[in-house]
Amino acid sequence: MAELTGQALGAYRCPKCGTVTSGDRKFCSECGKELDIECPECGATWRYMYNYTFCPSCGAKVKKKLF
Ligand SMILES: [Zn+2]
Ligand SMILES: [Zn+2]
Repeated sequence: MAELTGQALGAYRCPKCGTVTSGDRKFCSECGKELDIECPECGATWRYMYNYTFCPSCGAKVKKKLF
């Protein structure tokens, strides 16, 4: 898989509770929410990052639920 570009590698934020987690975790340590999310437009699954605004696969705008 291609390296994700950006400065925030290793700093992920839970889409549910906002807890910042380190990069290799699969689930939030606070609430148990899976940190990979699915694009509502193309169905691609990728690791949620707080600074994503658009789907990296199809370019659809990603709704930020909490932030
Ligand atoms: Zn969480
Ligand atoms: Zn997409």
